[in-house]
Amino acid sequence: MRIKAAVLRTMGVRAPYADSRPLAIEELELAPPGDGEVLVRVVAAGLCHSDLSVINGDRPRPVPMALGHEAAGVVEEVGRGVTDLKAGDHVVMVFVPSCGHCLPCMEGRPALCEPAAVTNGAGSLLSGEWRLHGSGGERVNHHVGVSAFAEYAVVSRNSLVRIDPSLPLEHAALFGCAVLTGAGAVFNTARVQPGTSVAVVGLGGVGLSALLGAVTAGAARVIAVDIVDGKLAMAKGLGATHTFNATQDGCADAIRDLTGGGVETALEMAGSPQAMDLAYRITRRGGTTVTAGLPNPTLRWPLNIVSLVGEERTVKGSYIGSAVPGRDIPRYIGLFQAGRLPVDKLLSERVKLDGLNAAFDRLAKGESIRQVLTF
Ligand code: ZN
Ligand code: ZN
Repeated sequence: MRIKAAVLRTMGVRAPYADSRPLAIEELELAPPGDGEVLVRVVAAGLCHSDLSVINGDRPRPVPMALGHEAAGVVEEVGRGVTDLKAGDHVVMVFVPSCGHCLPCMEGRPALCEPAAVTNGAGSLLSGEWRLHGSGGERVNHHVGVSAFAEYAVVSRNSLVRIDPSLPLEHAALFGCAVLTGAGAVFNTARVQPGTSVAVVGLGGVGLSALLGAVTAGAARVIAVDIVDGKLAMAKGLGATHTFNATQDGCADAIRDLTGGGVETALEMAGSPQAMDLAYRITRRGGTTVTAGLPNPTLRWPLNIVSLVGEERTVKGSYIGSAVPGRDIPRYIGLFQAGRLPVDKLLSERVKLDGLNAAFDRLAKGESIRQVLTF
């Protein structure tokens, strides 16, 4: 079938994207779902910093690529062997399709699925196949098995989680990346304990989802840190007990004073070495620094090893919030429906396909939290 999709053909073009237009809205040919695959009508897709990182070249991927990895939609058709989904089901897409058989999958860590890491890197679906082609017949890569800035997507069954159909799909989309990653970093990776102090450094969609998760987990102090005052004000409205602008002199000392030596858990959600350094400095003795940021792969962070040892610190990476998506997405949706994880407040704007480039300008400038593409 012919579909419209946002295709990136060249990484690293200069902003403003409203002028340079790195995303072209193209007509592509989408092949029918193969064995174990599903055709989904995309209803809503969130704009995430990881999309921007592909556009600006910080996270290199094979091009041409149809972008978009945080989405929800409705099942249109299932391929052979898919017996547990049917047309009309509402689904959230997950950007790591777990194979179920590799060692990380068997250990209950599907976010680290090895075959999925290979196929996501190659730009194919988990099957190793490509279902997208351009008008000249050339192969167009899938973005982490999802490619949701498109009217329709063919994805692996294992990239989908069925959800409660009463949930608006523009809210459901956020659970595929921002909430799964942010709240998951709090619940699964850090295992935040009630009554403890948590700091979140970097308040985009993932960071603010982590902040909401910390409130839900019962943290007594929830400290929000960013370089944009508007985001700090938003954090306050979402339950942050204290806010700090990281550009202010003495920010780390002020947080250490406030908390009597630092927080039990600091979460780095900005994807920069400076943010990582700040997060580590505001973590207390015996505490844990978690990072879910994805900086440019050439960047390094100098670690003070003696503090790691002498203060028994823990530094942990968190990918998709250490999620088991089929378990966690329904749980987080349940919290949302109970009013305890109000992620709808992160939705700042709705955009259409032809407005994507300008929307990424707003994201790059920190002028929006979560913009959602709707069809
Ligand atoms: Zn994302
Ligand atoms: Zn696996």
